[in-house]
Amino acid sequence: MSYFNELGLAEPILRALKSKGYDTPTPIQRDAIPALLEGRDLCGIAQTGTGKTAAFSLPSLHHLANGEGRPPRFHSCRMLVLSPTRELAAQIADNMRGYARFLGLSVDVVFGGVPINRQIKKIGNGTDVLVATPGRLLDLIQQGIIHLRGVEIFVLDEADQMMDLGFINDLKRIDKMLPKKRQSLFFSATMPKAIADLGSRFLDNPLRVEVAPQSTTAERVTQYMTFINQKEKQALLTLKLQSEEIERALVFTRTKHGADRVVRHLQGADLPAAAIHGNKSQNQRTTALQGFRDGRIKILVATDIAARGIDVSGVSHVFNFEIPNVAEQYVHRIGRTARAGADGIAISFVAPDEKPYIRDIERLTGERIEKVGLPENFMALAEALPKPVRTPPRGHGRGGPGRGNQGGRGKPGGGRGRGGKPQGKGPNNHVQKGERSEGGNSGGPKKPHWRNRKKGGVGAHKGRVKPSS
Ligand code: AMP
Repeated sequence: MSYFNELGLAEPILRALKSKGYDTPTPIQRDAIPALLEGRDLCGIAQTGTGKTAAFSLPSLHHLANGEGRPPRFHSCRMLVLSPTRELAAQIADNMRGYARFLGLSVDVVFGGVPINRQIKKIGNGTDVLVATPGRLLDLIQQGIIHLRGVEIFVLDEADQMMDLGFINDLKRIDKMLPKKRQSLFFSATMPKAIADLGSRFLDNPLRVEVAPQSTTAERVTQYMTFINQKEKQALLTLKLQSEEIERALVFTRTKHGADRVVRHLQGADLPAAAIHGNKSQNQRTTALQGFRDGRIKILVATDIAARGIDVSGVSHVFNFEIPNVAEQYVHRIGRTARAGADGIAISFVAPDEKPYIRDIERLTGERIEKVGLPENFMALAEALPKPVRTPPRGHGRGGPGRGNQGGRGKPGGGRGRGGKPQGKGPNNHVQKGERSEGGNSGGPKKPHWRNRKKGGVGAHKGRVKPSS
């Protein structure tokens, strides 16, 4: 089946797809939609960017629209979508509203970090589709604003990220409140055993759909790395951003404070940059993201968790300022670029104590990352760079540490990840005293490169870059 109108979706949904200009299902949509229309449970291994939101939304909206037109009851919802982060929840709700626009179904979203009262007002009368982060959902349930007894369709998105953020107990509590008879959909970018076990709690004889082998690096991403001491990374980043032809660059740091520090340096060098992470208010994050989407801000500095699931097209470069200690995270990071058929470049800055992470990443992806040396005269160029701005970067948040972007019920340590190697030790570990890594071991993605995209790739740095050892 190669067109949406061959899948058996209701006409108002096809009309909404047409108005968005979508006529061909993506592979996950092609595989999942027919089974979901039959009422099967689904276990999907897919990253954001594959079209998975529409894959779970379209057949679900079809069911809700056809389900004897049952209106949502007070304090109830008919479909519940759980998302690990506020940004992803808002993005899912936006997409679903678009797909539901000719159906007359209500789609609401609730997440932490914003006042609860407006959300109480909005959903108190019941809603067809509720997209929520787990913490805020449980708060609303505890306050008697919503219950889950009317849920017909349950979607758990980004399950591996949920685990990294420490949501496991919240998910178990929510599981107990859901009706036994329901359709369940479970999505994760990776499926290690712990995630598969979590999935088996929710799913009944699910269809398993995997869109890209879970550890395959985006094929169109050109990956580079440079070995460098941690304290020299900032200068290298600034020089790279000054010399590269950047459309949009995402810079990954391990910590929230690290992200702010990088932004202060970039702003000092007149490079338009903003940070998003869990210490920023929702408003600040929305503004930064909007600026990045519309091109006013070319450089977004983010922690893994804040960036996860964010769908921005036209990201030409991903910089791994720190290397993730979990190899899968690297794949997620570099997957932010090379979307929608574009080429992408990933550049990793590797401190001596991060070299083992690179070995793990290359083992996982089965690909070698090309080594690139430091620019000629690096030390002199670094010396001449301007000082960082002293004031906190615009949009500096007030939020306390530890709340992450997890929707409002910060867990202590929110997001120490799997396999967490000790952080904060070793000369080059970027987690410094008094800081906390945001989110799971945030390993990171990486793939460096320095290529002038228009002038022919790596050659663009000829004469400036010498081979690294
Ligand atoms: P997702 O993986 O759900 O975040 O989707 C990634 C992006 O692809 C979003 O911007 C969607 O709106 C878009 N998209 C989803 N399905 C299709 C499709 N069949 N054709 C074109 N674009 C799509």
